[in-house]
Amino acid sequence: MNIENLLEKTLTKPQYKAIKILGDQFHKTGTRAFLVGGTIRDLLLEREVSDIDIIVESDPWNLVHKFDPKYQIEVISNSQFNTCKIKFLGQAVDLAMARKEVYPASGALPEVTSSSIEEDLGRRDFSINALAACINPPNWGEVLDLNRGLQDLQSKHVRILHAGSFKDDPTRIFRCMRYSGRLGFALEDDTKTQLLNDLTYLTLLSGVRITNELVKIFSEKSLNSILDLMDQFKVLEHIHSGFPKGSEFSKRKKLLKDIRIPTPEFVFYVLISLIESDQRLDLIKRLDLGNKLSKFGTDLNCIELLEVSSSRSEIFKQLTEVSEIAISVAEAYVSKELRSNLKLFVNELKTISLCIDGEDLMGIGIPQGPKIGDILSKILTHMIDSGPKSKSGQIRMAKKFFCDS
Ligand code: ATP
Repeated sequence: MNIENLLEKTLTKPQYKAIKILGDQFHKTGTRAFLVGGTIRDLLLEREVSDIDIIVESDPWNLVHKFDPKYQIEVISNSQFNTCKIKFLGQAVDLAMARKEVYPASGALPEVTSSSIEEDLGRRDFSINALAACINPPNWGEVLDLNRGLQDLQSKHVRILHAGSFKDDPTRIFRCMRYSGRLGFALEDDTKTQLLNDLTYLTLLSGVRITNELVKIFSEKSLNSILDLMDQFKVLEHIHSGFPKGSEFSKRKKLLKDIRIPTPEFVFYVLISLIESDQRLDLIKRLDLGNKLSKFGTDLNCIELLEVSSSRSEIFKQLTEVSEIAISVAEAYVSKELRSNLKLFVNELKTISLCIDGEDLMGIGIPQGPKIGDILSKILTHMIDSGPKSKSGQIRMAKKFFCDS
């Protein structure tokens, strides 16, 4: 199959021109070069191509330095793994050397060695991502399909390349959900069986690797469908047993839909709020989410523990250290009664403050020490329950509390 026409039709003019020249220059160095992965998958689906990924059979950094000097190539980054990011004719392009990978253990990072493009395609996650199209001028647009990727694109299936794929790299379980939800593709039968079988390998992934995959999932337009798939295939409950399941999960997900929190933090706030309160801190530890999100988890627990019948000052006391973000997330899913307590706190109680301080109390003869703080806090509690007081009223009250103590 040759996709010469598709390249011209689907790529933008600047993308097309950049790829054409790069193919030409790589050819002059005597190296085969291919568009691969998502670039070719999206081209074949006639979707907009956002990233240009090119594979060459040598170190791309060395090759780029052999290009005709009339072409200005800006090297943005170059890694020790023989990958390099360049900018050419205004286009960001990822260049990588063809490689094969051996996984020393499930969930561990692979050992990488250089390889041919054919071997490189064999180490990929799914057949739809294991397609390549040559960009050397004599074979421009010729598709390399060694894993029946074209057939799977046509029949709309996500299929792993070998039975050990999810075991080798359990992050592929998340990737599988992501492509299936994004493209509306079904899981091929054996892939489905294997995925369900291999869910336990998710426990071998570090918190950071899981978190990276979740961030990608939460930036997808089809987030909702992907989360549904993750629920359906029990992926979430294998990350942590405290995630709600089935209809309870759908209900909570719907409630959280409208929370306005800037990404990428949104991901974690939603995840933490989805989980049952007694297991929240455990999830935060498992995903290595750090102190700020631990505080958020504790804050949510604090809100959920608030009694509906609490007095105004009890509400104030319980929520005074709680972050605004925890309150706005909790507002999305707590009961109507609890929500009105949260609103009362945000709109009224939080704004009540004293107009006297420790110095005023020392000025009326109360000695310095912990008593000062106790008295100020008692006055505030009194004002929260019974209404505001003038400065002189607050001083009078301080004297009374001091005498009573
Ligand atoms: P997206 O549109 O989500 O960016 P993509 O296909 O470009 O899709 P990348 O994560 O950028 O995805 O990866 C590029 C390619 O590298 C993939 O198409 C796939 O062939 C390969 N790849 C990425 N991650 C893995 C993995 N964990 N295992 C095997 N192959 C992978």
